[in-house]
Amino acid sequence: MTTVEFAEVSKHYGDVRAVDGVSLRVETGEFATILGPSGSGKTTMLSIIAGIAPPTSGAILIGGRDVTNLKAADRNVGLVFQSYALFPHMSVAENVAFPLKVRRVAKAEIAARVKEALALVRLEDYGGRKPSELSGGQQQRVALARAIVFKPDILLLDEPLAALDRKLREEVRAEIHALQRRLGITTLMVTHDQDEALSLSDRIVVLDQGRVQQIDTPFTAYHQPRNRFVAGFLGLANFLEGELQANGTSAVIRLASGERIACGAARSANGTVCGLLRPEDIRVSNGSGGRVSGKVKESVFFGESVRYAVALDSGFEIIAHVPGSRSKLPEGAHVNLDWEPDQVWLLPGET
Ligand code: ADP
Ligand code: MG
Repeated sequence: MTTVEFAEVSKHYGDVRAVDGVSLRVETGEFATILGPSGSGKTTMLSIIAGIAPPTSGAILIGGRDVTNLKAADRNVGLVFQSYALFPHMSVAENVAFPLKVRRVAKAEIAARVKEALALVRLEDYGGRKPSELSGGQQQRVALARAIVFKPDILLLDEPLAALDRKLREEVRAEIHALQRRLGITTLMVTHDQDEALSLSDRIVVLDQGRVQQIDTPFTAYHQPRNRFVAGFLGLANFLEGELQANGTSAVIRLASGERIACGAARSANGTVCGLLRPEDIRVSNGSGGRVSGKVKESVFFGESVRYAVALDSGFEIIAHVPGSRSKLPEGAHVNLDWEPDQVWLLPGET
């Protein structure tokens, strides 16, 4: 059992509430990600688990055991940071061996464990090199090997891909995913990148100003966010705020600008609501039909897709993101927008 638990944890630096009353439990073997903007308290949360920064209040439990007062060295936790933090004067093998030496593991066993750990990140032939002789992606894989070589209970990753360029980021992301699945190690990663969080995690913890906004699977957090912050942080969003008018099976949100936005049969009573409609759930056509009409105000070419800003007849703006780009519509084109009413999600935390 290697769960990690935050029980009502807070960490204050003077007036700054870096972490503000966080309760959270990561299950055995789970890959959880803390996602939030810069300064939201992500690194502070990892430091608290690792024993680097004591909490102001609350408790940390690892495998059900209260470790709040244990020193960092007495917690069996593997850490990988954004900057590789390898020892530059040591070889790759010596870097990976370091945590074992500190733990006074026998020499012969060290050699075997280092070999095994380097094989796990597919760097078995690089033991003799210096970190400066490796690419950024390879250095980060060495850092991963060093973090797992002593068989930690928990793996903590703090923005492990942030310093890498796009192609290497893909490579190391795949490596982290494969390694985590193979070892089945309970993992808590920190990132400000929603794609990373969505693609790697079993569950995402969305953090803002030291407070948990939502804990859910990537699918649920993306499609059924609790509030505007979560919706907007995980992707592009159209927020449709207005009066909900529901009658039996059909419902509309009446915007202040006058449009009536079809949404799924509403779970809540009539009143002010905020609907979320993801841009990629909107179909754009220049024929007839559709639910609302408007004019392309801006169109942005992404190669694999096109993003349109469409001004409705009232002036209200909607973003639509359509796959493919061969039939990109020009700015100024008249368009009709259509969507499945069921795909409009009423944000429960906004009224
Ligand atoms: P993140 O990793 O999400 O960017 P941090 O956990 O590093 O955020 O920081 C959260 C908040 O706590 C920030 O406002 C930051 O300035 C503050 N903070 C972090 N560490 C310290 C420290 N050692 N002393 C004072 N303030 C700190
Ligand atoms: Mg940080």
